[in-house]
Amino acid sequence: MAKVILRNLNKTFVDQQSKKEVNAVKDLDLEIHDGEFMVLVGPSGCGKTTTMRMVAGLEEVTSGEILIGERVVNDVPPRDRNIAMVFQNYALYPHMSVYENMAFGLRLRMLPPIWQKFTPKYKEVEADIDAKIQAAARKLDITQYLDRKPKALSGGQRQRVALGRAIVRDPEVFLMDEPLSNLDAKLRVQTRFELINLHRELKVTTIYVTHDQVEAMTMGQRIAVMNNGLLQQCDTPQNIYRHPANMFVAGFIGMPPMNFVKGATVKMEGGTPVIDCGGFSVTLGTDRAAVLAPYVGKEVVFGVRPEHLNDKALVSGTPSNVVRAQVEVIEQMGATSNLYISLGGHALVSVVDASTVAKENAPLDIVIDADHCHVFDKD
Ligand code: ADP
Ligand code: MG
Repeated sequence: MAKVILRNLNKTFVDQQSKKEVNAVKDLDLEIHDGEFMVLVGPSGCGKTTTMRMVAGLEEVTSGEILIGERVVNDVPPRDRNIAMVFQNYALYPHMSVYENMAFGLRLRMLPPIWQKFTPKYKEVEADIDAKIQAAARKLDITQYLDRKPKALSGGQRQRVALGRAIVRDPEVFLMDEPLSNLDAKLRVQTRFELINLHRELKVTTIYVTHDQVEAMTMGQRIAVMNNGLLQQCDTPQNIYRHPANMFVAGFIGMPPMNFVKGATVKMEGGTPVIDCGGFSVTLGTDRAAVLAPYVGKEVVFGVRPEHLNDKALVSGTPSNVVRAQVEVIEQMGATSNLYISLGGHALVSVVDASTVAKENAPLDIVIDADHCHVFDKD
């Protein structure tokens, strides 16, 4: 096992058609701890795959350094980096059985030259390879498919084979690039948990790429959010959800996405910060006064997640920040409902318990949870 360090990493492509430079990854600094499960998440085109390919050694680095363990690997060829990669399309050899697919890389690496085929050493190594394959197959529940060709397997089974091939190599680092995106929704959720369990068992440093914020939140010990080739924030899922570093992260993590009200202003009323959103205002706790002081009188963006805009606090105790909203559309989700509301002329989304009595085109009292309100710079 090993930590992975990306130090001021840059990748510039030259687009073949326009001849223009594309800065796919910009000044990326990231340290993945030994044994950590790190998720790289961001929208399509933000540089996730390019980053992975540079770590794997499949793409040359424009500038910066990559360390695996204590070793700078910029000039180390992929096969000597002691990593295993699992791709979205599985990349299995179609003409080989599952067993042969899993054995191929091991044989290349471990077996003595073919002219030694009849020596005892050759047999020993083959037995060792077989033991590794059988153990991985048991772990992934694919023992019964070892003789099949990939095309005779379902997508989920192929995914397991690709994982099995990575596991038998016993790498220091796993690189997984959207490995679940070709699976249907139900299998994706199931495989998510299996991957987490596998990581708990093997404890191999893993970099996992996805564009899906739910996968990132549920799987990552830490999450690195990227946009436009730039790292936006790297922290635990809880901290990213609770304290997003900027509007991009705030809007990308969480579903339904955070509500934003532009053109808001911060005021201090006797030491208490108040956000005037035009049409409604929110009184925040005095503990926020120091942090918000520099924003007083300036134009800001107010942010609140839909789940922090609900009627829960009305039932318990005497809440502050009660506002009257107009419910426009109700979307039933089962346990909860999404309410599309108008609040002081702003179109917002609120998530309430399904038991909330709300009607379309009718008013509803809602509480803005002051502990979960955000203020962002205008730009
Ligand atoms: P992601 O995996 O996050 O969707 P990529 O790393 O694949 O993003 O791509 C990042 C950016 O780099 C995109 O703008 C993409 O078009 C560009 N890019 C990727 N590979 C190449 C390449 N070989 N040549 C030119 N541009 C590329
Ligand atoms: Mg990609």
